[in-house]
Amino acid sequence: MEARFIAAIDQGTTGTRCMLFDRAGHVVASAYEEHRQIYPQPGWVEHDAWEIWYKTKKVIRAALDILRTEPNEIAAIGITNQRETTVVWNPHTGEPYYNAIVWQDTRTRDGCERLIADGAEEKIRAATGLPLATYFSATKLQWLLKNVAGLREQVEQGRAVFGNIDAWLIWNLTGAHVTDFTNASRTLLWNLRTREWDDELLARFQIPRALLPQLRASSDPKFYGYTRAAGPFGAEIPVCGDLGDQQAALFGQTCFDAGEAKNTYGTGNFILLNTGDEIIKSKSGSLTTCAYSIESHTTNYALEGSVAVTGAAVQWLRDNLGIIANAAESEALAQTVDDTGGVYFVPAFSGLYAPHWDMTARGAIVGLSRYSTKAHLIRATLEAICYQTREALEAMEQDADTKLTWLKVDGGATKNNLLMQMQADILGIPVVRPVVNETTALGAAYAAGLAVGFWEDLEALRANWQLDRVFEPSWDKARREEGYANWRRAVERARGWLQSSDHR
Ligand code: ADP
Repeated sequence: MEARFIAAIDQGTTGTRCMLFDRAGHVVASAYEEHRQIYPQPGWVEHDAWEIWYKTKKVIRAALDILRTEPNEIAAIGITNQRETTVVWNPHTGEPYYNAIVWQDTRTRDGCERLIADGAEEKIRAATGLPLATYFSATKLQWLLKNVAGLREQVEQGRAVFGNIDAWLIWNLTGAHVTDFTNASRTLLWNLRTREWDDELLARFQIPRALLPQLRASSDPKFYGYTRAAGPFGAEIPVCGDLGDQQAALFGQTCFDAGEAKNTYGTGNFILLNTGDEIIKSKSGSLTTCAYSIESHTTNYALEGSVAVTGAAVQWLRDNLGIIANAAESEALAQTVDDTGGVYFVPAFSGLYAPHWDMTARGAIVGLSRYSTKAHLIRATLEAICYQTREALEAMEQDADTKLTWLKVDGGATKNNLLMQMQADILGIPVVRPVVNETTALGAAYAAGLAVGFWEDLEALRANWQLDRVFEPSWDKARREEGYANWRRAVERARGWLQSSDHR
């Protein structure tokens, strides 16, 4: 039987999807499961790596069942994942040594601040393109090596390996311990220029090289490995695509040319601007990162504006405050009021990322009055997503010395039409939503499909991109600038909240 589909596994912060795509890039089957968010202390965020693997198996089987797909109808598998989240496991037993430490976790703030005080940041930024922040993997891995009893000895005996969630899943599916450049570029251990693990950084973070996965291209015709016949796919299928979720979305949006950008609305928001083969050093608070690498082509780089908490603030309204029943309800409730009634919500739960990189910021709601209702707060939560996007986007534009004339969007929260309209109003440029908003999974499928020749080239992928809707800005300049100025004042109130004696 001819292979008709590519499978993508999208292991996100909130949940895991398995999607099957046909040659036109349409979703033909999809299954999704949320997993638990574990908050042992303020500022700590963990996932159970076993649960993630279990849910991954479940969604693979469920997606295959929808079409009653035979395994040999699947040409290849691509993986995409929440980035930076750190797992260490025993390669002999498959047992993780500790919960996965999630990218949003701020427990390593002290360690980061010490390194900054030691003057290490400039050198690290020059090599990796990243600021020294709790966000990235290296300090999380360092924390595990220091705090998990006996782990250092296990490492010395070759009984421990490190990976981000992509490596954890690929290892479970195939037995290969590998990662791709895009994931590596989020660890603080990978050198943007040499495209190798950096010995100087490994020494600085005291991380043994033997822990690290092998490096591969994001779309790799040599394949990472084959799935085990006894595994959830029930057959040996090549795994040959792997991209961090934000890079996968860029790839899925077919932003292959320098100057093309996308913004993804998920747990956080992430704007990536393809800069081609140019490594642009940021001066305004963006990151420099690997966009993707295709075996037979060159490696592309990107500037990134990362915002930690956007959709997660909507989840917080649902789970912690209980004022909405589900994320989708935020749209209807926000629509019951014309504006936020002067309320601004800065959801700096994990500090502030781009462009501030302030690990001491914490959440603030300002402008409350006796008039304020839950509808105002919900609307302010949606506005916060858009204002944070504007801050990150402007920083990126400054770094790249460019001005975007429209913005391609994707991700779970882009279903919210009010949010998309607000985004156009707050940015003052059109917001362009494609038919497939699951571009993260699509990007992983594209990377895998290119590697096996399911799609011939980048042009074939571009031809699949289809427009759903354009949101045109409707606010006048005065309203836009007044709202943004107020937002910036609110951000100042959230910044620098923690003192050095607060260990959160
Ligand atoms: P991730 O890949 O980070 O897990 P998703 O792309 O699945 O994220 O998007 C889920 C996020 O989007 C959640 O944080 C959720 O609160 C938010 N979200 C989903 N639907 C909506 C909606 N209609 N309005 C606002 N936020 C939404």
